[in-house]
Amino acid sequence: MNSPDLPPPTLRLQLDSDALATNWRALDKLSHSARAGAAVKANAYGLGVDKVVPILREAGAADFFVAHWSEVPEVLRHVAPGSVAVLHGPIRSEDAQFARATGVRPVINSLHQARLWLDNGGGPCDLMVDTGINRLGLPLEALADPLLAQLEINALLSHLASADEDVAQNARQLAAFEDVSRQIPAKSRSLANSAGIALGSDYAFDLTRPGIALYGGVPRPELDGVIRQVVRPQAAVLQVRDLAAGDSVGYNATFTAGEPMRVATVSLGYADGFLRCWSGRGRLRFQGSDLPLLGRVSMDMVVVDCRSAPNICEGDWLDVPYSLPEASAITGLSQYELLTTLGRRYLRE
Ligand SMILES: *Cc1c(COP(=O)(O)O)cnc(C)c1O
Repeated sequence: MNSPDLPPPTLRLQLDSDALATNWRALDKLSHSARAGAAVKANAYGLGVDKVVPILREAGAADFFVAHWSEVPEVLRHVAPGSVAVLHGPIRSEDAQFARATGVRPVINSLHQARLWLDNGGGPCDLMVDTGINRLGLPLEALADPLLAQLEINALLSHLASADEDVAQNARQLAAFEDVSRQIPAKSRSLANSAGIALGSDYAFDLTRPGIALYGGVPRPELDGVIRQVVRPQAAVLQVRDLAAGDSVGYNATFTAGEPMRVATVSLGYADGFLRCWSGRGRLRFQGSDLPLLGRVSMDMVVVDCRSAPNICEGDWLDVPYSLPEASAITGLSQYELLTTLGRRYLRE
């Protein structure tokens, strides 16, 4: 027996491939003499590696960064192993062996990782030096360790802690990184994430590592008007109903109708990354009309006021306004959280 055809989901993510490619090219240009790579960790910030990586590759990106080893196979469906680096680095021997077997580069973050990599045969790697974020990376005090001389360092990396703010830490990290670059020979040097690119050419070195801005995030005002929106979620109406005055909506009855009104129940919930902080604040859109959210966001559903679009029907598609800077201002979620929590139930197209 043939397996039955699965109907399409009632959620979709429209990915504007043109905006994605344009964003990469804009960030590459803003990187001056450096080339722009691409952070594609966390399933390309929730948008889908299988969609995103080929578009970035065709736009010209040749350096891809993931965080976990588990993220490597999907990326390798689209690009050569030599263009992939794994930011978390090898913690266990299996990680190092996997890197050797696939040909992707580990990012070495500590002397422990350096030893593990060399003990497992070594080979080309990147080296992350911590210049002040105090998160992941070789501490400056470890730079003199003779073990480092045995590494075949492709890119020397560091990561900015506060590039989205105008604070003295940026210049301090820049100076520390310049200092490190003089001590550690490497084929290339890379410091800037998306916000770091907007700090100017001093921060660009040889390679930049944009993530959020590729996908429509605007971490600094300099990128306003440069970066285009990439993701447009849409959700289908499941049911339309008419409320009487006094009827309440959803869990804990946090909204009560003051007059008769038509509402629609929509296939979008916190399991889809539409978190409860949207409750009572957001709105969906239908053919130019605003449909305010009523009551609580549930796991799989929200209810919207459709007095402005009374002819709405089951199966109609509603737009979820998802300009990242605006959605962040409404919800208090970071632009990163807005993307990476989107979940698995969308048809990514
Ligand atoms: C995630 C990440 C990036 C990308 O940062 P954005 O702020 O998304 O541009 C760059 N470098 C490292 C080390 C990262 O972990």
